[in-house]
Amino acid sequence: MSDVPRTTTDAGIPVASDEHSLTVGPDGPILLQDQYLIEQMANFNRERIPERQPHAKGAGAFGHFETTHDVSAYTRAALFQPGVKTEMVARFSTVAGERGSPDTWRDPRGFSLKFYTSEGNFDMVGNNTPVFFVRDPMKFQHFIRSQKRRAENGLRDNDMQWDFWTLSPESAHQVTWLMGDRGIPKTWRHMNGYSSHTYSWVNAGGDKFWVKYHFKTDQGIDFLTQEEADRMAGEDADYHRRDLWEAIRDGNFPSWTLYMQIMPYEDAKTYRFNPFDLTKVWPHSDYPLIEVGKMTLDRNVTDFHTEMEQASFEPNNLVPGTGLSPDKMLLARGFSYADAHRARLGVNYKQIPVNAPKVPVHSYSKDGVGRTVNVSDPVYAPNSYGGPAADPSATDQAGTFYADGEMVRQAYVLRAEDDDWGQPGTMVREVLDDDMRERLVSNVAGHLSDGVSDKVLARAFEYWKNIDKEIGERIEQAVRQPVGV
Ligand code: NDP
Repeated sequence: MSDVPRTTTDAGIPVASDEHSLTVGPDGPILLQDQYLIEQMANFNRERIPERQPHAKGAGAFGHFETTHDVSAYTRAALFQPGVKTEMVARFSTVAGERGSPDTWRDPRGFSLKFYTSEGNFDMVGNNTPVFFVRDPMKFQHFIRSQKRRAENGLRDNDMQWDFWTLSPESAHQVTWLMGDRGIPKTWRHMNGYSSHTYSWVNAGGDKFWVKYHFKTDQGIDFLTQEEADRMAGEDADYHRRDLWEAIRDGNFPSWTLYMQIMPYEDAKTYRFNPFDLTKVWPHSDYPLIEVGKMTLDRNVTDFHTEMEQASFEPNNLVPGTGLSPDKMLLARGFSYADAHRARLGVNYKQIPVNAPKVPVHSYSKDGVGRTVNVSDPVYAPNSYGGPAADPSATDQAGTFYADGEMVRQAYVLRAEDDDWGQPGTMVREVLDDDMRERLVSNVAGHLSDGVSDKVLARAFEYWKNIDKEIGERIEQAVRQPVGV
C-alpha cells in the first residue's frame, strides 16, 4: 500500500485512473459517463474568479500584532490594550496592474490588514502612502480607469494618466510621492503602511479622538530606481511576492511598528486645514507619532487561492473603540469594499475561512449563494424564542459626529491652509535631498516623454511649477532638452 493518499472525486469516491479517460476500446471515443474526467474539466474551466478591480496583483502572509504600549487613554478596543496579542493576515499589492502584472511597476502599494480580535474582525485597508490622489469618491472610478487601460487598444497610456492628474490638482501630493523614490519600494518588507484616512477612536470613558495609523517598517525604507525596476519587471515579475514568501520561509520574519497620530475630537473643528482631507498629512510636529505595538508576519499561506485570492478586507470592519470619520472617501469605501467582495466572491464571503472571525457569529443573515454555516430558528428579531439580541453596551460612539445642513454637491469648506500645492511643495523642498530631487525630475521627465500629448504636457509643466517652481522648470527642461540630445 502506497503512503500517498488515494485520489478521489470531489465527492470522496475513489477514482480508477489519474492518466486515462474512459473510452470505448483503447482507440475509441471518450464516454460521457467518465464522471471524474468531466468533473476535472469543469472544475478547471471555473478555477479563475474575477480579479480585484483595482489591487489585482498582490500577496501576503499571516502573523500577529502585539500591543506593547498603553494607549487605553485613547481607545477601548481590546486589540489595542497593553500586552494583547492578536492573530492577523496582511496583503500587499499594486493598484493599477492585473493579476499577472510585474510587481515593480511604479504604483502605490496596497497595505491591507485583518486582525482576528476577541471583539470580531478589525481591518485596515491602507496604502504605503499617507495620502491619496482624490478626495471625493465621485472621482475614484475615473481615476482608476485613467491609470489602467484604454478602450481602443487595451494599452496603458501615460497621456491618460497625466490628463486626469493635471485636471485634478488635488492629486499633486500623491503624484509627487509616487514619482519619488517611494513610488517603487525595494520589497514589500521595505515600505511603511498608512491608514491614509483619518479614523476615530473612543476610550472606555467615552472620550473621542481622530486618529491616523502609521505602520513603520522595521526593515528600513528602501527603493528601486526606475532602471532597476524596469529590469526586474522583465527578470522576475513576481519579485515582491517571492521576496516576502522566501523571507518568511527562511525565518526572516518582517515586522512593522505601529504608531498613531491622535487628534483630540474638538481640534478638528478649528484645525488650519480640513483634517479629513485624504490628500493631506497631519504634520508630525502638530501630532507626533505615539507608539502602540508591533506587527510581525511569520506564516506563509499554504493555498494562495483560498487564503490570499479570496482574502477580503473592508474598512468598515471596525471593532468597539474604533470608527470611521467624515472623510468622504472613507465613507464611500465603507460601502464599496464590501460590495466588491459580494460581486467577486458572493454574499457569503465572510464565511470563507480567511475572512471568518475567530469569535462566534450571531447574525441574522441567512441563505444566499455559497452559505456553509447553518442557520437556525428564530430567523427574525425581535423574537421570544431565544434568538440573538443586540447589546448596546458592547458598542460605543466611535465614528459618530455631529452633522447638519442642506444636501449639497460641494467640496469641503475651505480653511486657511486648504490648498493643493503646499504639502507636496514642502515634500520637494524640505523632505527630499538633492539626490532624491534629481531622481524625481528624471522619473517624471521619463514618464512625460512617453506618449504624452502637447496640451497635456503643457498642463503638466504648470502642475509641477505649482508644486515647486524650480522642480517644474527642471522637469520642463529635461523633457524639452533631454541630456545628450
Ligand atoms: P516631517 O519632517 O516630520 O516628516 C517628513 C516625513 O516624510 C518623514 O517622517 C517620512 O515619513 C517622510 N519621507 C521621508 N522621505 C520621503 C520620501 N522620499 N518620500 C516620501 N516621504 C518621505 O514633516 P511633516 O510631518 O511636517 O511632513 C512634511 C512632508 O512630509 C509632508 O508634506 C508630506 O509630504 C511628507 N510626509 C509626511 C508624513 C506625515 O504623516 N506627517 C508621512 C509621510 C510623508 P515616515 O516617517 O512616515 O517614513
